[in-house]
Amino acid sequence: MTDTKTETINFIQKIIDGDNATGKWEKRVHTRFPPEPNGYLHIGHAKSICLNFGLADKYGGKCNLRFDDTNPVKEEEEYVESIIKDMKWLGFDWEDRLYFASDYFQQLFDYAIQLVESGKAYVCELTPDEIRETRGTLNNPGKESPYRNRTAEENLDLFSQMKAGEFGNGSKTLRAKIDMSHPNLNMRDPVIYRILHESHHRTGDEWCIYPMYDWAHGLEDSIEGITHSVCTLEFEDHRPLYDWYLDQLDVLHPQQIEFARLNLSFTIMSKRKLKQLVDENHMDGWDDPRMPTISGLRRRGYTPEAIRNFAEDVGATKRDSMIDVIRLENALREDLNKRAPRVLGVLDPLKVVITNYPEGESEMLDAINNPENPDSGKREIPFSREIYVEKSDFMEDPPKKFFRLGPGREVRLRYAYFITCNEVIKNDDGNVVELHCTYDPETKGGSAPDGRKVRGTLHWVSADHAVHAEIRLYDRLFMEENPDKGGDFMDKLNPDSLQILPNAKLEPSMVEPQESVTYQFERNGYFVKDDGRSSDDKLVFNRAVTLRDTWAKILNQQTKSANRK
Ligand code: ATP
Ligand code: MG
Repeated sequence: MTDTKTETINFIQKIIDGDNATGKWEKRVHTRFPPEPNGYLHIGHAKSICLNFGLADKYGGKCNLRFDDTNPVKEEEEYVESIIKDMKWLGFDWEDRLYFASDYFQQLFDYAIQLVESGKAYVCELTPDEIRETRGTLNNPGKESPYRNRTAEENLDLFSQMKAGEFGNGSKTLRAKIDMSHPNLNMRDPVIYRILHESHHRTGDEWCIYPMYDWAHGLEDSIEGITHSVCTLEFEDHRPLYDWYLDQLDVLHPQQIEFARLNLSFTIMSKRKLKQLVDENHMDGWDDPRMPTISGLRRRGYTPEAIRNFAEDVGATKRDSMIDVIRLENALREDLNKRAPRVLGVLDPLKVVITNYPEGESEMLDAINNPENPDSGKREIPFSREIYVEKSDFMEDPPKKFFRLGPGREVRLRYAYFITCNEVIKNDDGNVVELHCTYDPETKGGSAPDGRKVRGTLHWVSADHAVHAEIRLYDRLFMEENPDKGGDFMDKLNPDSLQILPNAKLEPSMVEPQESVTYQFERNGYFVKDDGRSSDDKLVFNRAVTLRDTWAKILNQQTKSANRK
């Protein structure tokens, strides 16, 4: 694994090192991240962001943020704002280099005029369908457009009229005059401009012709002085076209380098599909904690460090592959284990009355904030006669290896005392509703002077002092490893991806948790406060991740039992 990492980081760096050796760019490294503002950023974008800003950083270069807003139909201000917010949160700084492709509309138009003037572009009147039909196939050449041989004057005139709004949507296009029998279909007289009478989120009604992505993209890079234009593999086939465009004009010619996009198991990454999940109310917005969006991961309790470490860990390769989502979760565990403050929180409570503890009294006990970080210090937590423990920490008829509470069994309460269970109280339905226990005052702090041992240590919360909260547990959003493969992805949604525990009890310090801090609830995982409140106005906490990889555990058990059979 480590080998792949070194190798993959080197693939783009090697190219840059080579360029620096020959002096191709005078040792300049200038990259950019070019999102289209038609959705929120997701974890795949984070990989691209980390890569582009990371390369600039490693070589003392620069990285721009450029909104590739050439399509007026799908783009919105909300997306622009969310992208800026998410990138800042991830920890990246583009200084004063925030650009919009729409700022270059005039320049892109002027370049197109140059192509027309030199006889390399023409106004075509085929319909979009006709253009598609005459394009040919991989095995057959395309058919030349009957409008292909217009004079430059005629083309200039028609193109100006297109810009002036004299024609309807789709009635004319500007096409590059390249080669209708080129083996690369992208080179068969591609469309450069189309007519679209639509308002743009930044240029309003100034334009009614809009550049095609392929025309705009390479030229935007050129205008900004980009040296290494890093993009995903699906643009490899478009590179000859970008190169052709740049070669026709007297402009800087950035070098395009393609890498494999990030695919994560049990996850979809298409913005169109993510938008559908939001629009059809399957999710509580783009920032639903189950979404693979940056805002969703943030709300879920992810840290920018974990996401950046993950991106670094998966690196950049030329091969398409599926990354196990567990690697993302492990990056978070690794980061939070080092720095998350520990607290006690009972998710699904069972009342325990300590019958030999004086009524109406309480005491403060020392608890360690983070055993992984000696500087994190201690805090005090209250202990009293009535406490809550986790329902799942009690069994009426426990098997031998269950080291938690059962009738007659003794356990340690974290930071407190040993308690022994003496009586089990049930309701009319026969459900256990309360335990009566006694505590041993000699065991304060968690050890017995007579040296007797207990195997189990439970977390707990003092009933009178508890903060009442709603806990939301999340599971995979999709039930299949590759939801994009075969059939409708919607059919593969996991119906149990959200579980709500409405009666959690948390230690008193959680009445006002620190903003954006993900805590470890001991034995239960990592949790962060949600901005919303529960329907009965309680604090809400989202579980970011469990302490251990429970899926691996389940799979392990399945394999083991399968092997036994
Ligand atoms: P669209 O289908 O809307 O174009 P997109 O995911 O390509 O979706 P962009 O806004 O164009 O969205 O992406 C911005 C940049 O992020 C591009 O350079 C793209 O290559 C990169 N990117 C997008 N998805 C991934 C991914 N899964 N892994 C790595 N990089 C990605
Ligand atoms: Mg794209």
